[in-house]
Amino acid sequence: MVVGRLRNVAYNWRVTLAKYTGSKCKLCRREGSKLFLKGEKCFTSKCAMENRAFPPGQHGQRRTRLSDYALQLREKQKVRRIYGILEKQFRLYYHQADSRKGSTGENLLQLLECRLDSVVYRMGLAISRSEARQLIRHNSIRVNDIRVNIPSYQVSPEDKITVVDKAKSQLRIKASVEASQQRGTADWVAVDSKGLEGIFTSIPERSELPSDINEQLIVELYSK
Ligand code: SF4
Repeated sequence: MVVGRLRNVAYNWRVTLAKYTGSKCKLCRREGSKLFLKGEKCFTSKCAMENRAFPPGQHGQRRTRLSDYALQLREKQKVRRIYGILEKQFRLYYHQADSRKGSTGENLLQLLECRLDSVVYRMGLAISRSEARQLIRHNSIRVNDIRVNIPSYQVSPEDKITVVDKAKSQLRIKASVEASQQRGTADWVAVDSKGLEGIFTSIPERSELPSDINEQLIVELYSK
C-alpha cells in the first residue's frame, strides 16, 4: 500500500515537471503505436511495442471500447508525445494553425515539422527529437550561420542548418547520420552528410507526413 502510494507520488512528480522523465516506451504502449522516441532501439526487436503492444498498468490488457472523446484525446496525446510538446504549447500551436488559411490540421502538423528540433531530427543529425533538442540546447546547431539554442524555433524554407565545428566530432552525431543514410531522410530536407549540414527545402505537404496521424480528431477535440 505504502509502496503504491510512493509510486503515485513519484509518478505525479514526474508528470508535473516541465519535462517528462518517465519511461518513453510506456508512452508508445499507452498510445498503441510506435512513436520512435528512443532512437536506434525503436528499430530493433528490443522495442517494447514488439512484444508488449498493450497499454501499461494493471488493467492494460483489458478490452475497452473508446468513446469519441477518448479517441480524440488519445490522438492529441499521441501527436504531442511524438513531438515532445507540453499541453500549453501544443494548444498555442493549435490556435496558431487555426488562425492561418487552409486546413487547421495540416497547418498544425506543418508548424510542428518546422520546429528546429524536428528539422534536425528529420535531417538525421540526431537519432531522436529529444536528442535533437539536446544538441540545440547545447549550442551545437546553427541556422543560417547563427547559433540558435531554441528547439521550438520555426525554420523557414531554404534555411541552412549546420552542426558547429566543435560538435562535429561527436560520436552520437556520426552514428545518427550513418543510421539515417541507411534509412533515408525526409523529402523536404537536403542533407550533406559529410559536411553535417542541410537545407530545409520546403514545408512538407500533408501527403508527405505520416499517414497514421489523424489530425482531424485533434481539431474536433480543440474546437469543442
Ligand atoms: Fe516506442 Fe519502441 Fe521506441 Fe520504445 S523502443 S520508444 S516502444 S518505438
